[in-house]
Amino acid sequence: MNRIENNRDGLRTVILRRLDLQVDGTLQYVVRGEYIDADDIADTEIIAGPVVTTWWDVPLPPCPDCGGDIIWYEASYVPGTRKCMGAAITAHDGMPAHNPDGGCGSMFSAEVCYMIEGGETK
Ligand SMILES: [Zn+2]
Repeated sequence: MNRIENNRDGLRTVILRRLDLQVDGTLQYVVRGEYIDADDIADTEIIAGPVVTTWWDVPLPPCPDCGGDIIWYEASYVPGTRKCMGAAITAHDGMPAHNPDGGCGSMFSAEVCYMIEGGETK
Protein backbone atom coordinates (compact mmCIF):
# COMPACT_ATOMS: atom_id res chain seq x y z
CA MET A 1 0.00 0.00 0.00
CA ASN A 2 1.04 3.57 -0.53
CA ARG A 3 0.40 6.63 1.55
CA ILE A 4 -0.57 10.09 0.33
CA GLU A 5 0.96 13.06 2.07
CA ASN A 6 1.52 16.70 1.39
CA ASN A 7 5.22 16.62 2.11
CA ARG A 8 7.83 16.49 -0.62
CA ASP A 9 9.51 13.19 0.12
CA GLY A 10 7.56 11.02 -2.28
CA LEU A 11 6.48 10.67 -5.88
CA ARG A 12 4.46 13.63 -7.16
CA THR A 13 1.01 12.49 -8.18
CA VAL A 14 -2.42 13.94 -8.87
CA ILE A 15 -5.24 12.77 -6.66
CA LEU A 16 -8.92 13.17 -7.46
CA ARG A 17 -11.56 13.17 -4.75
CA ARG A 18 -15.23 14.03 -4.97
CA LEU A 19 -15.73 17.81 -5.03
CA ASP A 20 -16.90 19.14 -1.65
CA LEU A 21 -19.83 21.51 -1.95
CA GLN A 22 -21.63 23.21 0.90
CA VAL A 23 -25.35 23.24 0.13
CA ASP A 24 -27.66 24.69 2.77
CA GLY A 25 -25.07 24.01 5.45
CA THR A 26 -24.43 20.37 4.58
CA LEU A 27 -21.52 18.80 2.74
CA GLN A 28 -22.60 17.35 -0.58
CA TYR A 29 -21.00 15.66 -3.59
CA VAL A 30 -22.14 15.85 -7.21
CA VAL A 31 -22.57 12.25 -8.31
CA ARG A 32 -23.94 11.50 -11.78
CA GLY A 33 -25.21 15.07 -11.97
CA GLU A 34 -27.14 14.95 -8.69
CA TYR A 35 -26.29 16.50 -5.33
CA ILE A 36 -25.84 13.69 -2.81
CA ASP A 37 -25.37 14.15 0.95
CA ALA A 38 -21.73 13.28 1.66
CA ASP A 39 -22.89 11.01 4.50
CA ASP A 40 -24.77 8.85 2.00
CA ILE A 41 -21.94 7.95 -0.38
CA ALA A 42 -18.27 7.16 0.02
CA ASP A 43 -15.68 9.60 -1.28
CA THR A 44 -13.42 8.29 -4.02
CA GLU A 45 -9.66 8.52 -4.31
CA ILE A 46 -8.18 8.30 -7.79
CA ILE A 47 -4.44 8.53 -8.10
CA ALA A 48 -2.89 9.58 -11.42
CA GLY A 49 0.65 10.29 -12.45
CA PRO A 50 3.52 10.45 -11.77
CA VAL A 51 3.73 14.15 -12.53
CA VAL A 52 6.66 14.62 -14.90
CA THR A 53 5.66 17.90 -16.58
CA THR A 54 2.85 20.19 -15.48
CA TRP A 55 0.42 18.51 -13.14
CA TRP A 56 -2.65 19.57 -15.10
CA ASP A 57 -1.32 17.63 -18.11
CA VAL A 58 -1.37 14.31 -16.26
CA PRO A 59 -3.80 11.91 -17.97
CA LEU A 60 -6.58 10.87 -15.62
CA PRO A 61 -8.24 7.47 -15.27
CA PRO A 62 -11.87 7.21 -16.38
CA CYS A 63 -14.80 8.36 -14.26
CA PRO A 64 -15.45 5.81 -11.49
CA ASP A 65 -19.21 6.31 -11.91
CA CYS A 66 -19.60 5.78 -15.68
CA GLY A 67 -16.20 5.36 -17.37
CA GLY A 68 -16.34 8.76 -19.13
CA ASP A 69 -13.51 11.26 -19.52
CA ILE A 70 -12.81 13.52 -16.54
CA ILE A 71 -11.75 16.97 -17.79
CA TRP A 72 -11.27 20.52 -16.52
CA TYR A 73 -14.39 22.31 -15.40
CA GLU A 74 -13.65 25.49 -13.49
CA ALA A 75 -16.34 27.95 -14.48
CA SER A 76 -17.97 29.20 -11.28
CA TYR A 77 -16.21 26.50 -9.25
CA VAL A 78 -12.97 26.44 -7.30
CA PRO A 79 -9.72 25.92 -9.24
CA GLY A 80 -8.89 22.26 -9.68
CA THR A 81 -12.47 21.25 -10.34
CA ARG A 82 -12.94 18.48 -12.86
CA LYS A 83 -16.13 17.03 -14.27
CA CYS A 84 -17.07 13.83 -16.05
CA MET A 85 -17.83 14.84 -19.66
CA GLY A 86 -18.27 11.40 -21.20
CA ALA A 87 -16.59 10.20 -24.38
CA ALA A 88 -14.79 12.63 -26.68
CA ILE A 89 -16.51 13.73 -29.85
CA THR A 90 -14.78 15.08 -32.95
CA ALA A 91 -15.17 18.81 -33.36
CA HIS A 92 -15.35 20.65 -36.69
CA ASP A 93 -11.59 21.23 -36.70
CA GLY A 94 -10.93 17.51 -36.29
CA MET A 95 -9.63 17.85 -32.74
CA PRO A 96 -11.25 15.81 -29.97
CA ALA A 97 -13.74 17.77 -27.89
CA HIS A 98 -16.41 17.06 -25.31
CA ASN A 99 -20.10 17.79 -25.35
CA PRO A 100 -20.88 20.07 -22.36
CA ASP A 101 -23.91 17.89 -21.68
CA GLY A 102 -21.99 14.63 -22.13
CA GLY A 103 -20.97 12.26 -19.38
CA CYS A 104 -22.69 11.54 -16.10
CA GLY A 105 -21.84 14.91 -14.51
CA SER A 106 -19.93 13.63 -11.48
CA MET A 107 -17.55 16.29 -10.17
CA PHE A 108 -14.12 15.95 -8.62
CA SER A 109 -11.36 18.11 -7.18
CA ALA A 110 -7.80 17.61 -8.39
CA GLU A 111 -4.84 18.18 -6.11
CA VAL A 112 -1.13 17.46 -6.30
CA CYS A 113 0.07 15.11 -3.56
CA TYR A 114 3.14 13.07 -2.80
CA MET A 115 2.89 9.30 -2.63
CA ILE A 116 5.06 7.53 -0.07
CA GLU A 117 5.63 3.89 -0.98
CA GLY A 118 5.03 1.36 1.74
CA GLY A 119 2.52 3.35 3.77
CA GLU A 120 -1.23 3.22 3.89
CA THR A 121 -3.47 5.37 1.73
CA LYS A 122 -5.22 7.98 3.78
ZN1 LIG B 1 -19.02 9.79 -15.25
